[in-house]
Amino acid sequence: MINQLTNRFVYMSADGTVDRPILGAILGEEQTLYIDAGNSKRHAKTFREAVGKNYSTRSSMTALTHWHWDHSFGAAYDPLSPLIATGLTYQALQPLLGLDWSDEALDERVRQGQEIAFCADYIKKEYEGVERVIQVKLPDITFTDSITLYLGGVSCHIQHVGGVHAQDSCVMYIPEEKVLFLGDVLGPAIYDGPRYYAARDFLRIVEKIKKYPAAWYIESHYRPVTAEEFWQDINESCVLAELVIKFKDNKQVIEREWAKCIGRELGDEDKAVVHQFMLGEHR
Ligand SMILES: [Zn+2]
Repeated sequence: MINQLTNRFVYMSADGTVDRPILGAILGEEQTLYIDAGNSKRHAKTFREAVGKNYSTRSSMTALTHWHWDHSFGAAYDPLSPLIATGLTYQALQPLLGLDWSDEALDERVRQGQEIAFCADYIKKEYEGVERVIQVKLPDITFTDSITLYLGGVSCHIQHVGGVHAQDSCVMYIPEEKVLFLGDVLGPAIYDGPRYYAARDFLRIVEKIKKYPAAWYIESHYRPVTAEEFWQDINESCVLAELVIKFKDNKQVIEREWAKCIGRELGDEDKAVVHQFMLGEHR
């Protein structure tokens, strides 16, 4: 269940069936930093108990990559572990306090456009068969641009990056381990009609990511990948972003040029991404 990626960084894999993102833990000599709290107390408990059993952990802190339910709802599992996030994350979580999470209430919020069906469906799945007591825990410590946490022999630099997926998105870099935890910062906008990417914003985020000399890159809903694999994939997306900026609505030319640049034929998934990048140009 627990995977040890480097000497002092361990994680639990994502589970797409209940929209559980990867959870990470940095094992400092003095403190353990949990990266993201998970989508439920159950999710947090599974990971933290396993970490506690396999490694000697002392006190802990938890840092959120962004406010989305699947990353934050597990925080109530350990209310004594200080929760660290951006001020924007705090602001995004605050309106969720005290909401009713029953099927009926979720459905009603979806009808009124306050929630999206994608999240409502997965909340129902994750909390199926267990008492649906969802307590939203607000951050105890907030920061604006960046913060560095020293955990004893290892540290974590948290940098606010933003983007269309979530305005409060952060990346977390562990220099001693060369691990960059990206959360969903490279993901599409999901709360705002059909999913889309914003080409210029995507390129801006990639420029920020480039500053970290990481060996491992972790996107929350995927798996850890090496620098080589990550950059091959991201460079392809950057080529597409530039083509979309250049050719705007000319889908045929964009698809043709992208296939030429990346040296392969486009599959259905590639074409869906082209569509999502083109949608973003009209926002
Ligand atoms: Zn997200």
